[in-house]
Amino acid sequence: MTATAAAEEVAARFEELYGRAPDGVWAAPGRVNLIGEYTDVNGGFVMPLALPHTAVAAVARRDDGVLRIHSAEADAAAGAGPAPPGAVRLDAATLAPGGGTGWAAYPAGVLWALREAGHEAVAGGVDIHLSSTVPTGAGLSSSAALEVVTALALNDLHGLGLSAQRLAVVAQRAENAFVGVPCGVMDPMASACCAEGHLLHLDTRDLTQRQVPFDAAAHGLRLLVVDTRVRHALGDGAYAERRAGCEAGAAALGVTTLRDVPYEELPAALERLADPVVRAYVRHVVSDNHRVARTKALLEAGDVRGVGPVLVEGHASLRHDLRVSCPELDLAVSAALGGGALGARMTGGGFGGSAVVLVDEDRADAVTAAVAAAFAAEGLAAPRVFPAVPSAGARRLL
Ligand code: ADP
Ligand code: MG
Repeated sequence: MTATAAAEEVAARFEELYGRAPDGVWAAPGRVNLIGEYTDVNGGFVMPLALPHTAVAAVARRDDGVLRIHSAEADAAAGAGPAPPGAVRLDAATLAPGGGTGWAAYPAGVLWALREAGHEAVAGGVDIHLSSTVPTGAGLSSSAALEVVTALALNDLHGLGLSAQRLAVVAQRAENAFVGVPCGVMDPMASACCAEGHLLHLDTRDLTQRQVPFDAAAHGLRLLVVDTRVRHALGDGAYAERRAGCEAGAAALGVTTLRDVPYEELPAALERLADPVVRAYVRHVVSDNHRVARTKALLEAGDVRGVGPVLVEGHASLRHDLRVSCPELDLAVSAALGGGALGARMTGGGFGGSAVVLVDEDRADAVTAAVAAAFAAEGLAAPRVFPAVPSAGARRLL
């Protein structure tokens, strides 16, 4: 389906649900991160791309302080069929963190964060109907897509004039402070700022960004996402523990963030760290920042194939040093490499979710089959494999 057709469908459903036409329709994509993991929570570098999968939101302003939100997926999950029981209905002026609004906390949190940032106009309220093709909980940032699409819609409807970068920061604040998830800035920045045909090279300390052209097909290559469809429950606590360990490492080294440790000084820095766990976390973060720089240099030199081994190193680092992989991600990576992929690594926060695979175009089917066979042999549900084509960032559709 084209983006316009999807937008018209969401707009039509909005009209059925709310009895009037929306003021507009917006889209924001999910993302997959090529390289640079857990670096954004250490002030470092990342290099994601936007997926063709998007959250699409039809939105109309209100002036009575009411916020109503429907999600096609949440309505379907509730078994509501053609006539869902009603939108999530909230009071825009009294929204506060910890309100227990479930999935609706993502869009509601954005309205709250804009209000907190002084944009009182949004307290007038809004009707939202959204529908998303971003797989949820797969490490592909379905949450950031919801937040960014809401932020962009409110920005346009109220003429707030905020840049894509500011909207991403608002989205992160919504997720951190309203939803209560301590995520970094990469996900909303990727959703808001990525460009078609490019990777986003992002310095997460000052949000300096550079669009790096990435045309795998022109090199006879393909980038694949392997969604393992597993998500281990220990992920949330482990994420906070990794962040705390990295902060302890930065404190022990006398720097604000691990971003401030140059790769050349890594051996000396490691010698100064007594705790072996902290030492391993520091080694991951500093070396992954370096892998982002190496990947950027390879791509700028036109050596897309050369990125393969960097991905493999990145996975080993996440697996053995940061210890955020899991058997299913390791299996996806090893089966992809065994099937002839040039490189593969887990992507996102880990403990399940997705891997990213770089493969020769004529090996793509064989690699996909190898991954499927490996999962079947272990009695695991079939993973979902699809091409990661660098797509547009958040935008207005109608
Ligand atoms: P990820 O961002 O990696 O997909 P998260 O746990 O951060 O995983 O976000 C997933 C959550 O986002 C879901 O549990 C749900 O609350 C919310 N969400 C994502 N997409 C939708 C949708 N289409 N409708 C309702 N809620 C959604
Ligand atoms: Mg998320």
